[in-house]
Order: sequence, then C-alpha cells, then structure tokens
Amino acid sequence: MTNEPPKAPPLYPKTHILAASGIAALLSLALLVFPSSDVEAKKTTLNLELESPAEQLKDESRTAPLVQAEGEQGSPFAQIEEPAPSTQNAEQKATATEPAAQAVKAPGHREVTVASGDTLSTLFAKVGLPANAVHDILASSKQAKQFSQLKHGQVLQFELDKDGQLANLHSKVSSLETIRLTKTDKGYTFNREISKPVVRTAYAHGVIKSSLSASAQRAGLSHNLTMDMARVLGYDIDFAQDIRQGDEFDVVYEQKVMDGKVVGTGNILSARFTNRGKTYTAVRYTNKQGNTTYYTADGNSLRKAFIRTPVDFARISSRFSAGRKHPILNKIRAHKGVDYAAPRGTPIKAAGDGRIELAGRRGGYGNTVVIQHGNRYKTLYGHMQGFAKGIKTGSTVKQGQIIGYIGTTGLSTGPHLHYEFQVNGVHVDPLSQKVPMADPIAKNERQRFLQQSQPLIARMDQEKATLLASNKR
Ligand SMILES: [Zn+2]
Repeated sequence: MTNEPPKAPPLYPKTHILAASGIAALLSLALLVFPSSDVEAKKTTLNLELESPAEQLKDESRTAPLVQAEGEQGSPFAQIEEPAPSTQNAEQKATATEPAAQAVKAPGHREVTVASGDTLSTLFAKVGLPANAVHDILASSKQAKQFSQLKHGQVLQFELDKDGQLANLHSKVSSLETIRLTKTDKGYTFNREISKPVVRTAYAHGVIKSSLSASAQRAGLSHNLTMDMARVLGYDIDFAQDIRQGDEFDVVYEQKVMDGKVVGTGNILSARFTNRGKTYTAVRYTNKQGNTTYYTADGNSLRKAFIRTPVDFARISSRFSAGRKHPILNKIRAHKGVDYAAPRGTPIKAAGDGRIELAGRRGGYGNTVVIQHGNRYKTLYGHMQGFAKGIKTGSTVKQGQIIGYIGTTGLSTGPHLHYEFQVNGVHVDPLSQKVPMADPIAKNERQRFLQQSQPLIARMDQEKATLLASNKR
C-alpha cells in the first residue's frame, strides 16, 4: 500500500475534451441535471409512441402521475404486496371511498352523507336512531365529540344490531384517517384508525427523444424513480454518456395508493432499458436471508464490485490518455484518470467497498480521497471541495457511500472530480475497465427467483404490447 508513485507532482486538472462525449449525451446530461430547463418537460404526451392527438389530449387531462396500465381487473399481475381492497384505477375512481368495505354489507348497515344543514341529530334520525343515542355517544368520551364536527360530503357509516341499536359508527375524516365508535358492555369505545396506503404495481414505458428525464416525466415516472432506474442499471449503462435518442425503457414499480389516489411510489420491481440497441433487464429480488439486490433476468447480479462512474450525471470533461497538453503547466503530460465536471458540491460516491487510505490534502490533487479495495484495486478522487461526514483516513466505506463533494481544490481550473483507478499499482482507464461481477443468484434460490422474475418480465412484455397496440389504433 505505497502512496502514489513519487514521480512528477500529480496534477490532472480540468478538462476540455468535450467532443468525445457526444452531443446527445451532453444534452441528456444537461437536461437531467437541470430538469427545469427541459423544454420537453411539459406533460404533453405520455410517451413518444402516441401518435393520435386525441390520445394525447386525453392523457394530458389526467391527473394521476402514472397512467398506463394499472393493475386491471382480473390481471394476474394486479398486486404484489398487500392486496388492494379492490383493483382500482387512480384516475377513474379518485372519489370512491372504501371501495371494498362496502362491497359486503351487513343487513344493519346504514350510510349517510352529510349535506348542508345536517347535524348529528338529523343524521341519526335519518337512519332511525333515537335522539338520546346522539347524547349517549357524545357523552361516551371526549374524543367522541369529533363525530359532531361534520364536514359537508363526509360519509357516516352506521352498523345497527338486530334490535336497531347503534353497534358501530365510523367515518373517514381524511384519506388517511377513520374515526370509529364501537359499542361494548361499558358503553362506546373510540378508535382512530390511520390507514396505510395500499401498495400496488404500476407500469411505465418511455422512449428517449432528447433526454432521459424528459421521457421519464412523460411516462409518469417521478424524479426519484428515474434516479433509481439509473442507479439500478448504472453498472451496465453509463447514464452520463451512453444515452441516445431512440433508447427506451419499461419499468414496473410500486405505487402507494389511498382512496384511489396515488400518494407515493416505492421500489422499482423490474426495469428494462434498451440502450443503443442493447437491452438490459433488472429484477428486484430479496433472498431468503432478506438481502435485496437487482439481478439480470438470468439471475446474475447487476451489482458489480465497482460503480462505473463515481458522480451521478456528471459530464466527462477529460479522458484517460497517455499524453495530453496540461492546461496549466502547458506541457504534454499523461492524464492517468478521468475528469468529471459537475457543479460545486455535487456528491462523490465511493466506487466500491474499501478502506480509506487517505482523506486529506495531496499536492496538486487538493482535497483527495484514496480508497483501497481488497488487495488489487485502488481508487483516487481529487480536487474535492470537502469530505463527507465520517470520511477519514483509516475508516471503511461502502460502495455508493458519499465520500465528498465536487470542488476545485489543488491545481484545477474549475469544479470537477479527477478520478483514478489502479489495478495492482498500475493506472488503468476506469471507463475501459472490465469491472468484476458480484455473485449470481444462489443455486438453491434459482427456482424461487424465477417464480418472481418471470411474471415481472412477462408483465413488461404484455403491457408494452398493449400500449403499442392501443397507440396504433
Ligand atoms: Zn484529471
């Protein structure tokens, strides 16, 4: 574990060679980093295949973020986690309340909707309960008085016993909250139920026209999900420079739904990305030990020993080369790493698990982190603005952990990361490096994995086919 070779001071600053990166990639980067500048970000269409203007208009008018292909009635893929009370469409049933609960109603069930002028007494009268029943429940506890704070449109659900007495009264006071009174031997017991969103799966498909972020947005994917997709597939696809017009993606992801409204998203369950004609597939799988990783359709791990690029969505401003003119020293000098230009303060991630050999200043590198990964590999990160919390010489880091932030310390002409990769003490081009693979699915879990992955892949096939067919109509 010797230090850097003591040759000429290691000055590998900034970067000029843009041509190599390709204009399309730059475009996509700029758009990703600055989504607000994205001229296509307006949700004019859901995805690019939409050809009929009528279709587009229809889609535009929808409010739910995701629109294509919710779990349909009778679809074998409808739900993966807690089954929804019923399969429901976010944009169509946004007003439905307790869709399943009402499906089976006891004979004593009564339901009234609060109209203007209603009081608890008028509502009780409507379901045939005597006036003193109102008094009984309001007197039963302090909290029970919440039932008298009626809102126009609120629905009260009464359950009457066979003698016509009130056995249970409940009402949804918000999309998350139900208040309930239940008759017991000692009177009425008050309960507040906070409901959890139902998790269902949703599908999105997009084709890249100008940038990943624009097409993802059109497809209804949130920024977070887009980032997740890039993270999941980031070992194989370099989202900083490989994205091209015509690339396409399919994603099946978890959607959190309350009362037919989408209130959030969860994990990506499967993703497929066709990049320059080559298709990569990722499937989320939790093994019997409870560890979750993304695998290829064949069960190989997508996670590699190293992340290809330590800065998300940065622009490569200078590549590895045997000789180039140094912008400050004005001499021909090798550039033994790759430069990533990004705004000051952009997080830098550890490329792999390892031990920090140095977190401090090193000559022309400025603030520098050197990580030793096992015996053979070493990575170096230069010109940092500062180090992340807990990053110090001797500590250990996990792959993807933030170690510091883009800066321009040392001999540098502007904010960027200078990144080096060494194998057995020899500098190699991190972009050409064949990164080591992590372990595939264990043999004894292969069957279980396929049982989960195949339906997800089948769903992407099916949804995409349906979508393309409906767009052609
Ligand atoms: Zn450099």
